[in-house]
Amino acid sequence: MASVTVTYMVKMLTKSHSHMIHSKMTKIVTRLPLLHLFLLLSTTFTATASSSAYPSVPTDCTVSTGDEKLVPVRREVYDDGRIFDISHRYTPDIPSWGNNDGLGQFLWLPASMKNGSLANNSEMKMPTHSGTHVDAPGHMIDRYFDAGFDVDTLDLEVLNGPALLVDVPRDKNITAEVMESLKIPEGVRRVLFRTLNTDRRLMYTREYDSSYVGFTTDGARWLVKNTDIKLVGIDFLSVATSDHLVSAHLEFFESREIILVEGLKLDDVPVGLYSVHCLPLRLLGAEGSPIRCILIK
Ligand SMILES: [Zn+2]
Repeated sequence: MASVTVTYMVKMLTKSHSHMIHSKMTKIVTRLPLLHLFLLLSTTFTATASSSAYPSVPTDCTVSTGDEKLVPVRREVYDDGRIFDISHRYTPDIPSWGNNDGLGQFLWLPASMKNGSLANNSEMKMPTHSGTHVDAPGHMIDRYFDAGFDVDTLDLEVLNGPALLVDVPRDKNITAEVMESLKIPEGVRRVLFRTLNTDRRLMYTREYDSSYVGFTTDGARWLVKNTDIKLVGIDFLSVATSDHLVSAHLEFFESREIILVEGLKLDDVPVGLYSVHCLPLRLLGAEGSPIRCILIK
């Protein structure tokens, strides 16, 4: 459901000479009118997109440099099981909305040290609703979009605080009946719903599967009317089933008080109460953003 895409450069400036380049670039860039800057970036992107594929990252995470073997650690859990990373890693193989080929290449390395650049500078381009992401009210209510209810306006207090991870009955969508049966206590403001989507590993399946489970319209309405929940998290790319896609989203978006986090990685996390921490990017004007979410015991 992406309607806006973002392009921005991920700068990895670790050395002092890189900072010099950066400040020089900043000076050049600040002299350019904004439109020219945009065109410059777009041109650079288009020109490099087809020619320079992102160098492959070794799957065993080992790089040999002379005698020394450098081995980065990739983790799902930190601090002896106290911190769970519940965001999916961005790879070309994660599913993308309505697309059978997955996210595809989203990262390029137009300037690389191997090709003589003083620093490695990646660029990325992807729909804002890719992987683990957040929806702002402007996603499906156009007057909110026009008024500027973008991801930069989302309340960080809602996105951070005590949260309940619950298991939803595996044979059902999240209907009003199911919501009632979950008996979520009054006062609980953040709930992450783990469903059949996790068991089916849909976020690890490149081909988009429209048979995922999610909220029905009456389930969403029940939540809005009968609970204190302001943060709704789910384990696939949409909180709402395919059949109730727009109507269920509208139930959540209308008040502009509820924040939806989609595509969460909830496997291997015990059910229970945690502190959730989710931080979207401050993308002015965007109705969605990649988001990093963690749970702390
Ligand atoms: Zn979304």
